[in-house]
Amino acid sequence: MVRITLENITKKFGDFTALDNINLKIEDREFMALLGPSGSGKSTILYTIAGIYKPTSGRIYFDDRDVTEVPPKDRNVGLVFQNWALYPHMTVYKNIAFPLELRKVPREEIEKKVKAAAKMLHIEGLLDRYPWQLSGGQQQRVAIARALVKEPDVLLLDEPLSNLDALLRIKVRAELKRLQKELGITTIYVTHDQAEALAMADRVAVIREGKILQVGTPDEVYYKPKYKFVGGFLGNPPMNFVEAEVEDGYLRVYGNRIPIPAHYKELIEKLGVREVLLGFRPHDAEIVKGETEGLVGEVYSFEPLGREQIITIFIDGAVVKVFAPEGEHFNFGERVTVKIQEDRIVLFDKKTEKALE
Ligand code: ATP
Repeated sequence: MVRITLENITKKFGDFTALDNINLKIEDREFMALLGPSGSGKSTILYTIAGIYKPTSGRIYFDDRDVTEVPPKDRNVGLVFQNWALYPHMTVYKNIAFPLELRKVPREEIEKKVKAAAKMLHIEGLLDRYPWQLSGGQQQRVAIARALVKEPDVLLLDEPLSNLDALLRIKVRAELKRLQKELGITTIYVTHDQAEALAMADRVAVIREGKILQVGTPDEVYYKPKYKFVGGFLGNPPMNFVEAEVEDGYLRVYGNRIPIPAHYKELIEKLGVREVLLGFRPHDAEIVKGETEGLVGEVYSFEPLGREQIITIFIDGAVVKVFAPEGEHFNFGERVTVKIQEDRIVLFDKKTEKALE
């Protein structure tokens, strides 16, 4: 097992900078998710760790060993791609055995290892089938078995669940998380699906335009985003943002005034900021009927989701979404007040969109 260190990694494709001075440590046995929108550089990081791409500058270490110049085949990584690319003309057994045959491992040993990997992934009964005779979830498990049979030091997964339907994704992600912990193998998981990253990873690195914006536990990146982008990328619906002005101990939000949250009082004074973005999560506010202390607005729409509903509210120039319990009745255009849980408020500098700190 290994700890992976990326040190000042920059990767250029011609003039285009795909990775811009990435620094990241992935601890031994850790499950790290690389989360970001399409084109942000997630896969490029993964392929750089695998050795498929050579960084333009910077170093990569597996434990204390500098592997920057080491070819992919000597890095002992297991890589699983989006479209698992099983060999269609080979049985499941052959597919899993293939990397070992390439290494000229003796036949009995191959058989032992293939069976062990198949058992781990609950596909022992499928070894004689061909890929076309498998469901998407089964194919995905075969691909993971094929990556694991080499007993890699590191498992690299590039959107491995994206070909599965929504229900199966949720089932397989629980299995994958459990398997990762059982094997204790350092794992890096690329996804643009925030729910997947939050659900599976020990830590999440949020990436935008080739830069890492924040690395933290799911709780940290969810509740304490360092950038507006992070708050807006995580959560469904994402964090709400309203423009606010600091005014004698209050935050003015359009025609409303709410007290400056206790955890920001000193900081705001110290920084002397006037214009901020007030961020809060849809679960961290409640809706009170009528006009009272808080953010007053009107109900634009409501979406029942079973046990709760999402209410969309217009507050002058802003639109916010707040969860309400099932059964509570709202009318279109009804006047309501949004009361935000004070300790969950995150304030961002309006210009830089960076959280105040
Ligand atoms: P996705 O979720 O869509 O796979 P990603 O975050 O994994 O996106 P990358 O595949 O790492 O993004 O690509 C990052 C940027 O680098 C993109 O703008 C992409 O077009 C560019 N890029 C990636 N590989 C190459 C390449 N071999 N040559 C030129 N540009 C590349």
